[in-house]
This record gives sequence, structure tokens and C-alpha cells, in this order.
Amino acid sequence: MHPQLELLIMLHDVDLLLKELENANRARQESDFGFVISRHEEVAAAKGQIEQQLDSDLLQEYRRLETRYGRAVAPVVGGVCYGCFMRLPTDISVSKQRNEELFRCINCGRYLYWVAKQPNSATGDSQEAPSSRKRRRTGRS
Ligand SMILES: [Zn+2]
Repeated sequence: MHPQLELLIMLHDVDLLLKELENANRARQESDFGFVISRHEEVAAAKGQIEQQLDSDLLQEYRRLETRYGRAVAPVVGGVCYGCFMRLPTDISVSKQRNEELFRCINCGRYLYWVAKQPNSATGDSQEAPSSRKRRRTGRS
């Protein structure tokens, strides 16, 4: 995976986690206060590390998208951007470079990552190693 893309996804995750901790912080001030505070500091520190590793242009764009949409990265499932639910052009959705390059949705501009093999690219991805993990989910061969 593209290292900057990985960082964007991590940053998105950490941002969400921070928001959850802030909510928990407000909701449970009596019981878990100390715990939540210390977790919050840890996560905030991790976030700072991620931000340092990201290109500043990318980080700026991430923040801009986040302000606009709430989330700046979106998964692609079945060739569809799950940020705006727009079908992506075939050349993007079947690209072998997916997750190895930074792609952005042509409609909403979110950074895209692919979570699963595209069902419409059944031509045999050379990148995809035969996965025993996937097979196990079906139960039988
Ligand atoms: Zn989109």
C-alpha cells in the first residue's frame, strides 16, 4: 500500500477514535475519567506522529475534505466510492495500481482505498496471492 495512503487511513481512524474518546469523556466523567483522559493523550500523540509523516499538502487537503464532508478517505467497494456512492470509471476501479497510488474520487475528491477484490475484474489479478484465509470463509472448497 502507498505509504501516504496508509497514513491517511490511519489518521482518519485516529481522528474518529479521538472523537469517540471525547464523547466518552463527556458521557462518563465520574467513572472512567482518568482512563479516558490518559487514552486521549496517547491517541492525540499518535495522531501528531502521523501528521508529521504526512506530506503537508496532503494533510492540508485531508483537513479541507474533513471539514467539508466529515470524512476525507473513503473505501471503494464494487467499483463504487463509499463516500459519495458514485460509480468510479472502470480504468480507476480495475487499476492494478489501486492502493499503490493515491487515487481520489472524481466526484467528491475523497482519497480512495480498496478494501476488497473487485468482482468485475475476474481476469485474474497477478497481484493477488491465492489466499487460504478467503477460502476458509466459505467453509468448503
Ligand atoms: Zn466519491
